Amino acid sequence: MKVELSLKITLPTGEVGEHLLSTLERDELSLETLGLSLQEGKALLRDVQQRLIEAQLDAFLDAQRSCTTCGEAHSNKGKHPIRLRTAFGAFEVDSPRWRRCACGADLKVTKTFSPLAALFTGHVHPELLYLETKWASLMSYGLTTALLHDVLPLDATTSAVTLRNHVLAVAKRSEATLGEERTNFIDGCPAQWAQLPVPDGPLTVEIDGGYVRSYRKPGVFEVIVGKSIGSFSREERGGGGTPPPPPGRCFGFVQSEGGKSRRRLFEHLRTQGMTANQHVVFLSDGGDTVRNLQLYLHPQAEHILDWFHVTMRLTVLSQLAKGLATKAQIEARRVAKKLDEDDEKYADVAREQVEPDLASIKHYLWHGNTFRALELIRSLEFECDVPSPSKELKKFERAVSELRVYINNNQAFIPNYGEKYHQGETITTAFVESTVNQVISKRMVKKQSMAWTPKGAHLLLQVRTRVLNDELEDLFREWHPAFRPPVPLTTAAPGI
Ligand SMILES: [Zn+2]
Repeated sequence: MKVELSLKITLPTGEVGEHLLSTLERDELSLETLGLSLQEGKALLRDVQQRLIEAQLDAFLDAQRSCTTCGEAHSNKGKHPIRLRTAFGAFEVDSPRWRRCACGADLKVTKTFSPLAALFTGHVHPELLYLETKWASLMSYGLTTALLHDVLPLDATTSAVTLRNHVLAVAKRSEATLGEERTNFIDGCPAQWAQLPVPDGPLTVEIDGGYVRSYRKPGVFEVIVGKSIGSFSREERGGGGTPPPPPGRCFGFVQSEGGKSRRRLFEHLRTQGMTANQHVVFLSDGGDTVRNLQLYLHPQAEHILDWFHVTMRLTVLSQLAKGLATKAQIEARRVAKKLDEDDEKYADVAREQVEPDLASIKHYLWHGNTFRALELIRSLEFECDVPSPSKELKKFERAVSELRVYINNNQAFIPNYGEKYHQGETITTAFVESTVNQVISKRMVKKQSMAWTPKGAHLLLQVRTRVLNDELEDLFREWHPAFRPPVPLTTAAPGI
């Protein structure tokens, strides 16, 4: 069997062009010779793309060829090649330079102009740029490059480095739209805020820090990540039935990069519909950098130490307590060494002694009683202060001291968790997948060899969070209004 594939293009002038694209030969039928091979498909797409681009540009230039006032054709001054990378191959396009018409009607500052200049705002086609950005934010630059080469007739020179440059350019462009940094972002006064319509339910914002390996110098640097979750909208609640849990939207950045961290966070919350009279709850692990970031962002904000981080520390303490000697072991040691019962040399702290204290500390913290919790922590520290502590006791004591500092520093952010819990309020976001894991670990620390510059990590995070939030297409549509017109919901195909 012989199959001839040709392309028929009817230009706006009515002129018809027909081009033979390729000829396919098929002899014996087997599963692998059935239909198009990937290779044939790629070659076909590349050919169609080239013909289509040529025809479109020719038609575009023809339409602009004559002066709009006198109808005289613009004369040629020269041309230069433009290399355009598309999802279906890279092509060199001649960009002509024309002399402005002598009638003077359009004689501006320059005597010549390039009719294609306004069209080619970038040399990478948005479709390709979108694919590169989307997949490189989910997996490594190298894997993305290999995948795209596998399925598309991509230009052979497209390497992981080319791709990285494209992706970072997208991130920089999205960064450029961020407004100036300010101390306060919400204007007005409580009286004005009261006039606003009743807002949706509280907006919960989880902020956390994670670490990635540094590329230039040994060590790591901190990346701030977070997720905001709206609890419900007034309309949903009125509609009856349980509304589906609203999806969280994540954000991430490196604080030293580009500054404006507070503006970044504010804009993130604003696009989620945050209003001046809305109840906003910030949940964090109490780190200074994170806390300073969230303060003053919103007048109605409540700042809470995430219960998850409190329990994490208490769990570590319980583990360490398990390493301590039991009363029976301490007594046996004393007998073996023939020491007096009040001899200081055998003084130790028994596991049975501290475990009830740890339970009480947890209980007090759960009810927001930091005063009693701190009292107990201090007395526990005092008990552990023996003349010759064991290695295990030293470790335990250090952890108790750390807990004291932690609770002391975060007193103002420790609410009555128990009460909030019973009222159905959010006191932790740990029940969802860790944001640090979702935003950073899966892409940026999954391999030991992965190392980043703060700038590279920061920029990648800007596109990665957009992809995770399913917002990348909207961003591209802002830049290129005709990019992937939204499909009406009823006929929408399942997304990838
Ligand atoms: Zn003219």
